Amino acid sequence: MSDAAASRRFSIGLTGGIGSGKTTVADMLQARGAALVDTDLIAHQLTAPGGAAIPAIRAQFGDAFLAADGAMDRVRMREYVFTEPTAKARLEAVLHPLIRSETERAAAEAKGTYLVFVVPLLVESGSWKQRVSRVLVVDCSEQTQIRRVMSRSGLSESQVRAIMAAQASRLERLAAADDVIDNDGDALALVPQVDRLHALYASLAAAHD
Ligand code: ATP
Repeated sequence: MSDAAASRRFSIGLTGGIGSGKTTVADMLQARGAALVDTDLIAHQLTAPGGAAIPAIRAQFGDAFLAADGAMDRVRMREYVFTEPTAKARLEAVLHPLIRSETERAAAEAKGTYLVFVVPLLVESGSWKQRVSRVLVVDCSEQTQIRRVMSRSGLSESQVRAIMAAQASRLERLAAADDVIDNDGDALALVPQVDRLHALYASLAAAHD
């Protein structure tokens, strides 16, 4: 555990590649009593109509990146970020401080046996690993990721592969993990794994808090 994490409430950083099953596992932990803080959801809310990031996005990128309802135009922004080298850093400079403060606010209010931060890009973002007590990686093969994301989103295989290529590799994620859930099997195979980790986290939280 890092010093920063030690001074705070016991917390899990839950991560995994696109389509690995982060939301599925997070929901199962929540059903057992964990408190969830979903950084993706927070990012969506910040860029929704009236969201706190919208004025800065307008100032930084212009009205062309806002949809008719006033939300950030996510499709347009994603295409831009893939083609314009500086766009990703500019968008992150707008979003990351807001995500951080909103995440801390949600964490301070969260009830539950322990905290679970759902952070898709935890391994890529450096600082998150210091923020949490343990890193939980939801792992599955690349073939499984591609199949799940294609059937859920209608993206093509090459589009899914492009998103995966912009994320940490499976091995990089596993190297950062304290705990791993294997999600190559069916949903039932998750139950004993989630039960075991929940029991571990509940006892570590009781000893820590
Ligand atoms: P994203 O990174 O895209 O937000 P995620 O990591 O949160 O995805 P989920 O949304 O939990 O992943 O899962 C992706 C899709 O795969 C969902 O449609 C989910 O219902 C399905 N899925 C997840 N795990 C399993 C499983 N073990 N068996 C069958 N389907 C699964």
